[in-house]
Amino acid sequence: MWNVEQFRSDLKTIVDIDSGSSDIDGVRRVGDFFEEKCRALGLFTKRYADGTQLEAGTHEEGEIDILMVGHMDTVFPQGTVAQRPYTERDGMAYGPGVADMKAGLVAALHLTERLKQEHPELSIRLAFTGDEEVGSLKSRDWLLQLGKQTRYAFVFEPGRPGGAMVKKRKGNIDLILKFHGVAAHAGNAPEKGFSAVTEMAHWILELNKLQDLRVGTSVNAGVVSGGTASNVIPDYAECMVDLRFEAMEEMEKIQKRVAELAAKPFVQNVTVDVEYQGIFAPMNPSEATERLISLTNEKAAQLQLPVEWVAAGGVSDANHLAGLGVPTLCGCGPVGSDMHSDKEWLELASIEKRLDLLYALMSELKGA
Ligand SMILES: [Zn+2]
Repeated sequence: MWNVEQFRSDLKTIVDIDSGSSDIDGVRRVGDFFEEKCRALGLFTKRYADGTQLEAGTHEEGEIDILMVGHMDTVFPQGTVAQRPYTERDGMAYGPGVADMKAGLVAALHLTERLKQEHPELSIRLAFTGDEEVGSLKSRDWLLQLGKQTRYAFVFEPGRPGGAMVKKRKGNIDLILKFHGVAAHAGNAPEKGFSAVTEMAHWILELNKLQDLRVGTSVNAGVVSGGTASNVIPDYAECMVDLRFEAMEEMEKIQKRVAELAAKPFVQNVTVDVEYQGIFAPMNPSEATERLISLTNEKAAQLQLPVEWVAAGGVSDANHLAGLGVPTLCGCGPVGSDMHSDKEWLELASIEKRLDLLYALMSELKGA
């Protein structure tokens, strides 16, 4: 029913292209591969962001029934493929990004091919990004735009060992704070200096006050730097802060507090630049998502492929779509693990099972 030989050959082709997030040319080549495949299927295609983003679909206008999202970038630098190209051994496939998430991209392609043939009424859209591993800053607005026209979204991060999918993820804000003060000699002219480090210290304590573990909000100022010598009042300091939360209200509260702090520094003559490296809304299953999960469970039972549902602490592009209220499932790709390491593996036997399950589910998602 599925051409698994073709699947593995497609997977080998794209795993063997280095496509780290900063390797624009490599990500673009992965995009070229899929664009050609999509055109051959008769899909419309578009490229954005220097070709590192690919959009393809069956219907160019109107509501999208099924949005399939994946990222073409990996965390691995150029040269990784030369060291450890795609290989298969004892029912597993290995190679950089094999599970996270090149197998997911191929799964989305093969599902689209069959759905288009057998359910031409479904409006299917593929959105393959190129910067997920570095916070999706370039692709976020595009995904949100697509999400607004979408009925159901599926993100093809790898399925968890045992076949579990992800229905819940914490939200995340990743900040870089840059403090600019005024330098002076700490002994001779303390009145002339305005300390960037003191301002940073205030910020860290204020942001820490936002931590509330009872509602799942945590704050970590993980990296700090600043100053040059103990007798120099520092004119520069920098801090990286990671905030995690389960509730949308908490995300809004954090953004509001950051804006307030930036508008009114504690130390006179110090200014603060706030850079958002990532903003991911929490992914919490809505009633509509729960209905989609029930339907998935029904199909899984019929196919005798029972599926478990897990919550994850990390973020993915599913957070953006779920944050809009779109029923969203993540972990839709074939099963794999040990991501972001040289041990990353993909279970070849899970390819067909995943395709069967998602096909059965997606076949029933035609809108009114
Ligand atoms: Zn991923």
